[in-house]
Amino acid sequence: MIVVLKPGATQNTVDDMTRRIEEMGLKAHVIVGTERTVIAAVGEKRNGEQETLAACDAVDKVVPILAPYKIASCEIKSEPTVVRALDLVIGGGNVGVIAGPCSVESEEQMMLSAAQVKESGAKGLRGGAFKPRTSPYSFQGLKEEGLKLLAAARDLTGLAIVTEVMTPEHVEMVASYADVLQIGARNMQNYHLLQAVGEVDKPVLLKRGPSATMDEFLLAAEYVLDQGNSQVVLCERGIRTFESHTRFTLPLATVPYLRERTHLPIVVDPSHGTGVASLVAPMSVASVAAGADGLLLEMHPNPSEALSDGAQSLTPEQLADTMTRCQVVADALEMSFG
Ligand code: PEP
Ligand code: MN
Repeated sequence: MIVVLKPGATQNTVDDMTRRIEEMGLKAHVIVGTERTVIAAVGEKRNGEQETLAACDAVDKVVPILAPYKIASCEIKSEPTVVRALDLVIGGGNVGVIAGPCSVESEEQMMLSAAQVKESGAKGLRGGAFKPRTSPYSFQGLKEEGLKLLAAARDLTGLAIVTEVMTPEHVEMVASYADVLQIGARNMQNYHLLQAVGEVDKPVLLKRGPSATMDEFLLAAEYVLDQGNSQVVLCERGIRTFESHTRFTLPLATVPYLRERTHLPIVVDPSHGTGVASLVAPMSVASVAAGADGLLLEMHPNPSEALSDGAQSLTPEQLADTMTRCQVVADALEMSFG
């Protein structure tokens, strides 16, 4: 239910309503809007709560939330959520760009990548230190050593670090180095991991599982939001279809579809979505045109030597070109870009 308070509700009123909702065995999420404060009362529905709450003096009205996800829904909050990490701004008219190698490989590779990403105008730097690889024999990442290199790259450039965390036990450690925690596609429904990142005060970039529906995707986001972390970014990274000309199929209708249902920002990853470097620039341009709030792009100083995902990694020159082309579309849409 959404408990809409009358205009001008004081902090005491909000606290009092929160207490009443929690006494009903429901969780209360307070959302302070520009005009009204609403409280989302979430939990197993019993009997009569709606009427009881509607009868309170401070309450204007109580409306049921129809979507299966609650806190992620536009029904609760119509203003877009803007996620910020250092100079990286995603959402609310800002197209934030995160670029960098698939994996952190060495100090030299990471520092060079960071300088090239900075040069491109992107504000976020990606790089996996813990890598979810399909084969156990593939490079698994430099782990904490990789996180240290990412933190050093941030010191060098000021870029916000986006890196994956694969298990609840590592959340605290990864959060101590990273600015944004990435949940990989394979882990979209790892509910303990989602809850663990929900307890941290760092933004979360949640990737869509390759076979997840939109409702499953939003319910995964709901796990993070329900723990109190409101800084969630959704990332479309392609789904599994019968097609084999691309690594995955990148459905850009996801962007406007989600826009109608959630206030959370939506980023597109055309690198994993296509698996082919030459397709990344056009699909980046298309993503911005479709209304994406950001891009996640793989770039390697020397893609042919990359330890993972070389075929889909842009060269530094291709990244610069992609940025220039997207900027034109962003300007036309009056969005800030970078
Ligand atoms: C990645 O970003 O390098 C990655 C592993 O992506 P995904 O989880 O989308 O496969
Ligand atoms: Mn990758």
